Amino acid sequence: MADGGALMRNEEGIGAVLGVLKQQFGERFQTGHAIRQQHGHTTTWIENQMPDGVVFAQSTQEVSEIVKVCATHKVPIIAYGTGTSLEGHVNAPAGGISVDVSQMDKVLEVNAGDLDCRVQPGVTREALNTYLRDQGLFFPIDPGANASLGGMTATRASGTNAVRYGTMKDNVLNVEAVMADGSIIRTARRAKKTSAGYDLTRLMVGSEGTLGIITEVTLRLQGIPEAISAARCSFPSVEAAAKTVMAVIQYGLPVARIELLDAMMVGAVNAYSKLDLPKTPMLLLEFHGSNAGVIEQAETFGALAEEEGGTGYTATATLEERNKLWQARHDAYWAMLALRPGCNAIASDVCVPISRLAEALRASETKAAEMGLMAPTVSHAGDGNFHATVLVDMDDPDEIARGRSFISWLNDMAIGMDGTCTGEHGIGQGKKSYLVRELGPETLAVMAAIKKALDPDNIMNPGKILI
Ligand SMILES: Cc1cc2nc3c(=O)[nH]c(=O)nc-3n(C[C@H](O)[C@H](O)[C@H](O)COP(=O)(O)OP(=O)(O)OC[C@H]3O[C@@H](n4cnc5c(N)ncnc54)[C@H](O)[C@@H]3O)c2cc1C
Repeated sequence: MADGGALMRNEEGIGAVLGVLKQQFGERFQTGHAIRQQHGHTTTWIENQMPDGVVFAQSTQEVSEIVKVCATHKVPIIAYGTGTSLEGHVNAPAGGISVDVSQMDKVLEVNAGDLDCRVQPGVTREALNTYLRDQGLFFPIDPGANASLGGMTATRASGTNAVRYGTMKDNVLNVEAVMADGSIIRTARRAKKTSAGYDLTRLMVGSEGTLGIITEVTLRLQGIPEAISAARCSFPSVEAAAKTVMAVIQYGLPVARIELLDAMMVGAVNAYSKLDLPKTPMLLLEFHGSNAGVIEQAETFGALAEEEGGTGYTATATLEERNKLWQARHDAYWAMLALRPGCNAIASDVCVPISRLAEALRASETKAAEMGLMAPTVSHAGDGNFHATVLVDMDDPDEIARGRSFISWLNDMAIGMDGTCTGEHGIGQGKKSYLVRELGPETLAVMAAIKKALDPDNIMNPGKILI
């Protein structure tokens, strides 16, 4: 499950680094079993591979010093935000040092007039939005977990709002990063657009800690819309719901959120969040704009949904009701795990061109049923991105094998539709074998050349994405 077997532990180097960091960081450097385990992978079925020590950095300068110590002794460095990644990203297959940036949690500057802000990497998305609320601003990217902005940048994360506001790649203006030799770079300035040289911002966004440690992020912000309304609508099949989403996108309706839940997922959400939603496939929506604008959007959606047999189209009446519904959506992962206590989740997050979404969802549903697997599905449908998460009994080797085989089939199907094996979670350890199928060896060779040039000793999060 986890891999990295080819990577060798550098025992001598690790011993030397442990000694230096203990002396330099005192209580902020920890080597206890529990904390090391917590800083390995903990979210899915991928096995935990702990680092040898965890250091809590408090400044860019400190990160640079830590990297220089590790570089001298050729010891792996794994950046750690909140550890919510799903593909073994924070595992330490060859040991090394986890650099936890959660204490780098300051909002450094908000430029309300320019709609941007600069933050340290340990600020979480919820903390940033709490900080911004009084100024009438918000940051729209919202993965289901309350992840750190450094981690979200490093995984090129997105969430329910991406259909309207884009992903981290669209919302990061520049980063400050400590590179593998300890040098500190800034990738761009605050201008909304730039043609100045290679786009190192985009290179660092999604690099999963394999090229450097992000120590500051400058983000685009949005004004809180004048009006926000939410709604839900039930459908006779997943395909009918997906066809409605396709119509919405092709029509150009500027929905802020359009999320699809299959019937099994609706059942899970009902049980976990104490809701009473009709147990059929469902779309959850949110409209942003002026008062008149959101009414018009909602009416247009209603007409499109009706054509596909949508029923029970209901607007949420109060802010409390709206928050409850979206909290339930954000808790869907835990709701799904609660469907089968004791099981583990094999995560997936394929993304296909929107015109293929209905076909992909139908095929996924049919295949899981044929293979006798429980795979509740939730989809950021407006982007063509969906999570069919297989719930497996880890004591049943046959079920594990079927789960793996389903995920492999699913990823190949998405790639075959000119889509991707990962719309937002990233490659980590779990998706490495699919990257070459998706992009081909020549493209991977270019990625490997970049990695080699920037991190010749392969100390930055080794065993992820490529090697
Ligand atoms: C319930 C649940 C729901 C989720 N829903 C979504 C979703 O809707 N959309 C989505 O995109 N993801 C989702 N995720 C996955 C996860 O939340 C994201 O991948 C998130 O961006 C990870 O952030 P983190 O702070 O937890 O990073 P971590 O898990 O700590 O790290 C992730 C990767 O980034 C690297 N990294 C972390 N910080 C830095 C840094 N400062 N500099 C360089 N590299 C760094 C790490 O080395 C690692 O490779 C979900 C996860 C859970 C558990």
